[in-house]
Amino acid sequence: RDDSPTNRPAEDLLARLEGGGEALLFASGMAAAAAVVQALRPGDHIVAQRAMYWGLRAWLEDFCARWHIGLDLVVPDAGELRAAIRPGSTRLVWVETPSNPTWEVVDIAAVAEAAHTHGARLVVDSTVATPVHTQPLALGADVVMHSASKALNGHSDVVAGALVAADPETDFWRQIRDNRKEGGAILGPFEAWLLLRGMRTLFLRVEQASANARRIAQHVRGHPKVAAVLYPGLESHPGHAVAVRQMHGGFGSMLSLRLAGGCTAALAVAGACRIFQRATSLGGVESLIEHRATIEGPDSPVPDDLLRLSVGIEDAADLIADLERALDAAGRR
Ligand code: PLP
Repeated sequence: RDDSPTNRPAEDLLARLEGGGEALLFASGMAAAAAVVQALRPGDHIVAQRAMYWGLRAWLEDFCARWHIGLDLVVPDAGELRAAIRPGSTRLVWVETPSNPTWEVVDIAAVAEAAHTHGARLVVDSTVATPVHTQPLALGADVVMHSASKALNGHSDVVAGALVAADPETDFWRQIRDNRKEGGAILGPFEAWLLLRGMRTLFLRVEQASANARRIAQHVRGHPKVAAVLYPGLESHPGHAVAVRQMHGGFGSMLSLRLAGGCTAALAVAGACRIFQRATSLGGVESLIEHRATIEGPDSPVPDDLLRLSVGIEDAADLIADLERALDAAGRR
């Protein structure tokens, strides 16, 4: 169950891309994250970033409460993290950078230092950055996690997850490997084959999508109907300075817009786009737009004027024209 001649080449490639000692593929990003958390014991404690993929945050809150694992959700600067760490019981620090849906940038090296000082391990969800832009292991992380359903595969036709360890000889990683094997969370070989196909064009796709996202961000900032553009590549973004240090070759393909006209305007713009498709995934070759607060439901902390854009590899001028047309049409209703 835990090995396949089709999965191995995809895992080996991913380990090389991340500069790690070993990679493991999982049936989904959530299965990969669960294998990490299930390597802890009741009584252990996790410090995690508050702003992260909401599905994972919801699962963490539920699982940790039921399995008596302490959980503190914090703003991920090294000072806040240090304050939240409980020496002796904090085993895991979990961050996502850039993080959904405001693209907060976490200083991985600073957080790694804080975690390691207290004997905790740092896991970085690098789904949005991809190994093209950031290599968390080189910055001190112990494990990198990916929803490989996203940019690693890039064609929106696979659900997969991945973990890459800096050091595969630790008890922590052995437990994760056992969790995958005994819990049956392995990726099917057909999906591994599709993922390998996707990774062949990883750099081409991600570089093009990041360049498109940057052009769009620069173009729409200052638009009268756009109250704010959230993109780490813009100097106005609070994480820009860290992003410049930590991200290479671009700032990723994800950005969010906050609409001056609030929720009504946001829904109208999403509905008026023709090239940007209304769908909830990210990191594919096609551009997507979504109203996050609707997707996350009534308890969502995401402001209802926010639209999340996953920028694809189409022509940037076409994407900009599509957005401008949608912004214009929304204003006329
Ligand atoms: N991490 C991030 C940043 C994500 O966006 C997602 C999915 O949207 C996940 C993890 C979960 O991955 P999967 O959908 O492959 O289970």
